[in-house]
Amino acid sequence: MSAQPPVGVRDVVLLGWPVAHSRSPAMHNAGFAVLGLPFVYRALPVRTEDVADTLQALAVVGAVGGNVTVPHKLAVYERCDRLTDEARRIGAVNTFWWEGEDADEARVLVGDNTDARGLERALREDLDLSVRVEAMGGRRALLVGTGGAARAAAVALGRLGAAVTVAGRDVGRAGEVARLAAPSVATVVDLAAFEALAVAVAAADLVVNATSVGLAGEHLPTVLEQLRPDQVAYDLVYGPATPFLVAARAAGAAAHGGEGMLLHQAAIAFERWTGVGAPLEVLRAALASG
Ligand code: NDP
Repeated sequence: MSAQPPVGVRDVVLLGWPVAHSRSPAMHNAGFAVLGLPFVYRALPVRTEDVADTLQALAVVGAVGGNVTVPHKLAVYERCDRLTDEARRIGAVNTFWWEGEDADEARVLVGDNTDARGLERALREDLDLSVRVEAMGGRRALLVGTGGAARAAAVALGRLGAAVTVAGRDVGRAGEVARLAAPSVATVVDLAAFEALAVAVAAADLVVNATSVGLAGEHLPTVLEQLRPDQVAYDLVYGPATPFLVAARAAGAAAHGGEGMLLHQAAIAFERWTGVGAPLEVLRAALASG
């Protein structure tokens, strides 16, 4: 009889705090099951002070890898032995895995970030964009937010060829995010400068909310809730429609939530851990059933 793999060899984990609300276990476990893959995805609530010990313990038991969510994307970034160019560019890790020997300290922790590629795929699907690399060439995107999701979105919008304006409460940070859209043209606007913001909103074909505003029903500045029917509202927040999306729909604009990005970033990570393409429709159905 062949030896059993060490405990943890097929474990994939989500590190965050909190994690109970996450749809990732449902998506990945549905995908593993339908393909008959011997993997298990578990959400691990981990406090900030326990991130390093948790990673070490997971390496020792031979875990495959995992995802990282709020608030640990930077903490894991700092603890990786190797980072992909994408993780380095975005400055955060949302997907990791070990390479090398099982169950000893020689294992190399590799950090990646699948958020920008996930958003690119979601935008192509939701906006029915062409397969051309610069599918948004000539279109203008207003990106609201300066956190980790906004950094990934700037990379994605830049790669799609959109001209990007970043709106943030902190204009210096907005400038840093705008630089990530290179080589696309990128400018910044102060989220509190209502007249300049109104001009940026009016000029945009696509308005992306990459702040956490709306998760609990909060409103973005009023001008962002006054889109025209020829504009598209895109919210990275997922779950019930945010006031931003509700207002956009009421104005006749197309409106999309963050489920597409969540789905596609998961599919890219799934393929990385298993070496097998993700069954996208199975993941999509598991996400929708939550
Ligand atoms: P961060 O905490 O890194 O960033 C939050 C951002 O929201 C910051 O720019 C912050 O601005 C801004 N913000 C918070 N409150 C306000 C406010 N009242 N007015 C204006 N701006 C505000 O979080 P993330 O970037 O990681 O996540 C942002 C959202 O994106 C979350 O809802 C998250 O769930 C979602 N997300 C979705 C993903 C998906 O797959 N669909 C993937 C990743 C994230 P400031 O810096 O000025 O404080």
